[in-house]
Amino acid sequence: MSLVVVGSVAYDGVETPHGKVDRMLGGACTYISLSASYFTPVKIVAVVGEDFASEDTELLASRGIDLAGLERVPGKTFFWAGVYSQDMNDRTTLQTDLNVFATFDPKLPEAYKEQPYLLLGNIQPGLQHNVRQQMKGPRLTGGDTMNYWINDFRGELLETIRHWDFLLINDSEARLLSGLNHIGQAAKKILEMGPKVLIIKRGEYGAMLFHRAGHFAIPGYLLEQLRDPTGAGDCFAGGFMGYLAEQGVDPSAGKLDARLLGRAVVYGSVMGSFCCEEFGVERFRTLSRQEIDRRFEEFRHFTAF
Ligand code: AMP
Repeated sequence: MSLVVVGSVAYDGVETPHGKVDRMLGGACTYISLSASYFTPVKIVAVVGEDFASEDTELLASRGIDLAGLERVPGKTFFWAGVYSQDMNDRTTLQTDLNVFATFDPKLPEAYKEQPYLLLGNIQPGLQHNVRQQMKGPRLTGGDTMNYWINDFRGELLETIRHWDFLLINDSEARLLSGLNHIGQAAKKILEMGPKVLIIKRGEYGAMLFHRAGHFAIPGYLLEQLRDPTGAGDCFAGGFMGYLAEQGVDPSAGKLDARLLGRAVVYGSVMGSFCCEEFGVERFRTLSRQEIDRRFEEFRHFTAF
């Protein structure tokens, strides 16, 4: 009963007001799978080059992540570099070297195809669709996307998300995808595109969840120490889906109720917040499930009235 995760495994160069790291483990698939691994067994599908360090493979393996679908091919690992604004709410991409990621053609190992949960990280929508097609009828499928795919691959993206149970995007992407500025109207239009659930991530301001029967919203967690927001959205996705997988959610059996979805949004926010406390994936070297559950309870206290 595993969660299959597809996306980038990368090296990142990141500069924030709290420091600069020229090269460290990153990538959407990396963040999603580390985060989800606190809730459910994870199997990843990704590609790296010959330069991918054994200590990075070991970190993923130490969290019990199945690496049978991590392809290693000649060439260099995907590299991304970015710099954050003073308040860390905006970032500018400085460099994107696709390297071996340019020809990524995800192939699922046989044992992956029977798994019930699928999370499609931010990659070309056609590849996301292709992975979904290789699976033998997953119970729950969800994913992420970004401005570039919404603008330049719109047709492919619409055909892809039509088959998803949930879509996770940020507020500017929701406006872009729907063509509507009012977030409630934008959500309604996106739900008409196929996904049963829409999660809108709002960075430090929290997250909103929309489904056909209503909506749910939580504020952001007030961090005492915020060093690097890279990967927060992916960790949110990993926590959200990881929790639903842990609960054995099965929409076809009617086991996807509003209460579970709300709790999943809180776990997503908890995981996104931990990610920001240290550079890159550092926080995951020490993070425990106990700390996660404690922060989940904090959310309960500061949102109760
Ligand atoms: P997030 O901060 O949640 O948006 O995720 C940041 C991660 O996305 C970084 O670790 C990057 O390596 C990865 N990333 C950046 N650009 C791309 C891209 N074009 N395709 C796939 N992954 C990317």
